[in-house]
Amino acid sequence: MSKRANNWYISFKYDNEPTQTAKERDVIGVDVGINTLATCSDGTKFANAKAYKQAKKRLTRYQRRVNKKELGSKNRAKAVKRLSKLHKKVADIRADTLHQLTTWLAKNHSTIVIEDLNVSGMLKNHKLASAIADCGFYEFKRQLTYKCEWYGSELVIAPRFYPSSQICSNCGHQQKMPLNLRTYECSNCGFTADRDFNAAVNLENYGMEVA
Ligand SMILES: [Zn+2]
Repeated sequence: MSKRANNWYISFKYDNEPTQTAKERDVIGVDVGINTLATCSDGTKFANAKAYKQAKKRLTRYQRRVNKKELGSKNRAKAVKRLSKLHKKVADIRADTLHQLTTWLAKNHSTIVIEDLNVSGMLKNHKLASAIADCGFYEFKRQLTYKCEWYGSELVIAPRFYPSSQICSNCGHQQKMPLNLRTYECSNCGFTADRDFNAAVNLENYGMEVA
């Protein structure tokens, strides 16, 4: 990361010559989440970068400083400038993490299965709304789409109402899973797994069925 002309730049290595790559795994399911950026059906988790979390905390502080300054004052203008710089930094860190995730997925897997998030429906829930806007789901899908083309892999999008978090990935039983339940405990077979991991495995299974 380098600081240039008062802007933060994170340099990406873009692959200019897209080529088919050897794939280490056939099908992988990816659950995009709020707490964890992505949970994959092979057990890989992509956390939000530490720098991102720290910068997010600082955002709240910088915002508070702006609010305390007198409207129209020079000090307020300064604080606003500082806040907008930090906003850009947060966005850049997020973009970098997303690029790492989507490149890894498209390069190493023949088929990547994701969910078609009902973003507009979720936006009615305000708490969820900011979290979803935050995880940049559209950007995630956009990057995956073109990178799958680059590396010769296939992107499968499970239909909007596919109940990936409600199905038991072990026996196929389906049960309600309120958002606050972080662990899937199957009332039919007793299978227990991390909620996001269970969803990712279901997405992988879905991909195998349609493939
Ligand atoms: Zn079960």
